[in-house]
Amino acid sequence: MKLEAECRRDGGRRDIPLSRILPRVLDEMQLDPKTRAGVEFFIDTSITQAYAADQKQLSLYNWDDDYTELFLALWIVPDGYIRIVEAMTKGLDIRLQHAVSEICRDENGVVVKTRGNGEFRASYGVVTVPHGVLAKGHIKFEPKLPAWKQEAINRIRTGLSDKFWFHFPRKFWKSNKAIVGRPDPDGKWSLWVNFEKYHREPVLLCFNRTGYAAKLEKMSDDKVVDAAMHFLRKEYGRRTPEPIAMQRSKWGLNEFSEGTLTHLPPGASSEDHRTRTPRRPSTLRRRLDLPRVQPPGRRRVMVGSAGGGESGDGPAVSRCGQTDFQAGESCGAFAITVNSNFRRRNQRS
Ligand SMILES: Cc1cc2nc3c(=O)[nH]c(=O)nc-3n(C[C@H](O)[C@H](O)[C@H](O)COP(=O)(O)OP(=O)(O)OC[C@H]3O[C@@H](n4cnc5c(N)ncnc54)[C@H](O)[C@@H]3O)c2cc1C
Repeated sequence: MKLEAECRRDGGRRDIPLSRILPRVLDEMQLDPKTRAGVEFFIDTSITQAYAADQKQLSLYNWDDDYTELFLALWIVPDGYIRIVEAMTKGLDIRLQHAVSEICRDENGVVVKTRGNGEFRASYGVVTVPHGVLAKGHIKFEPKLPAWKQEAINRIRTGLSDKFWFHFPRKFWKSNKAIVGRPDPDGKWSLWVNFEKYHREPVLLCFNRTGYAAKLEKMSDDKVVDAAMHFLRKEYGRRTPEPIAMQRSKWGLNEFSEGTLTHLPPGASSEDHRTRTPRRPSTLRRRLDLPRVQPPGRRRVMVGSAGGGESGDGPAVSRCGQTDFQAGESCGAFAITVNSNFRRRNQRS
């Protein structure tokens, strides 16, 4: 497939969706049905779920962004990532529930304006809100972001992938593997993580993506459980028990995430990611016109991330006093941020 893409690119032909080539390449391999299903499941877990995008949304030339992630192993942090966040945020002045609406920059530094929680002034600002939030223009920048940055933001897309946890009264599946499931062209109830393997609790986590995830976000919890049970009972039989609890994300409807993972659609390139995160600090410094080292005693304001990750606590502004921050190392780096606030606890009794 890579070779076919390269030939096409070398021939000066325009980029097209991955879906135009990948299924044909698989057909040509003439795999037996079992192997084909295995390969399709692998593609589902390591490409389409990993980028929260369907094949038709991904660039043939740059879908892997010069980096292929192989979904081969899982590590679970004991007690969750929150332990890391707690350790890293000790001593920092973090303001939760402070939604930033505007960031102004002038010769004196930055002013970060929030919705109803006042303003924060600092020498520098570090913005780490998710790409979807930037793309939707939820934060106004004054002066506007430079055209090269805004254009890169516009070319990249944020996809949608939601998580659905089900706690069952007993384990009804036999597998002790971490990942279970089967391929589905639309990624419906296809990828399940077996948490029983790690926590000894009969918990399954399922990922749904793109259009189907968006549809599920608008459905009630009861309807979502019914949809999941319809699938599970087809696979495991009519006696499959109802879950005793369910939790899910709704990252598409959340204005502080506006989706989840970023991907490159046809026409976008890895350069667009690199433009957001220039590798060499000197380049970034030049572009942002920043001094080499932050003078001691000056302040920076971090907008967007208090290291929230999947245990995120909503919008945040964090203010740091004296730091050893080197201007240019991270300032203005709109990294590939993915919002994963899981804040709703939906239970079904
Ligand atoms: C479905 C899914 C599964 C994942 N699974 C894993 C995994 O198993 N392991 C792993 O290591 N990583 C995983 N990741 C990736 C991981 O969650 C991200 O890499 C990480 O959360 C990025 O952290 P961040 O601080 O850059 O961005 P985020 O965690 O997105 O934090 C951005 C913060 O900005 C805040 N914000 C947004 N708008 C505003 C505003 N206007 N004002 C103030 N604050 C605002 C948001 O509320 C959020 O708290 C997964 C991601 C997804 C989407």
